Amino acid sequence: MGFPSLYGGLTCLDFANTVDGRALPEPEEHLHDYADLVRWAAYADLLDTETAHHLALLAKARPQAAAASYTAALRLREATFRLCAAPPAANDLALIQQGYAEAMSTATLTPAGTHYTWTLAGDHLDRAWWPAAVSAVELLTTDRLARVKVCASSGGCDGLFLDISKNGSRRWCDMGTCGVEAKISRQTARRRAARRTTP
Ligand SMILES: [Zn+2]
Repeated sequence: MGFPSLYGGLTCLDFANTVDGRALPEPEEHLHDYADLVRWAAYADLLDTETAHHLALLAKARPQAAAASYTAALRLREATFRLCAAPPAANDLALIQQGYAEAMSTATLTPAGTHYTWTLAGDHLDRAWWPAAVSAVELLTTDRLARVKVCASSGGCDGLFLDISKNGSRRWCDMGTCGVEAKISRQTARRRAARRTTP
């Protein structure tokens, strides 16, 4: 299915990372339509199989509403990215606040083992991306926001992640991709320098 790995550490950051290589001239968009949105939400474990199937059918029956929901999802995604990593636009906060309020207006407290948890209604098209709105508000209202970082890759990655390392030392979205690239280019530079200084 080819979605980016969930390296963000939070739903809203993983959602922001569904654009790969944001700083490149041609970033790679992983969500092309509402159907992709549902597939991604299922991949990120935000929808169970039954709800994902239900939403996909709902979208087929109401294509215009599904397209509008997809547009709203991407607006929320870009607002989240800006609030974490770029100058926010005027209505970014309002957009996230609205998504959160709509999501929570459908939520019910349901038993979850020893406590209770909020469960979102499964029969609304926006259900596919509401968890990202809820997650964004949960991030914005805690000091974890200060721990959000942009991948240090010079290759245009711009991936977001929550740095939960004790000393705040995480630099790469994914050691397996950007981290390795950085290591290789450092080693290459070192080898070149060594060659130049060797008589
Ligand atoms: Zn990266």
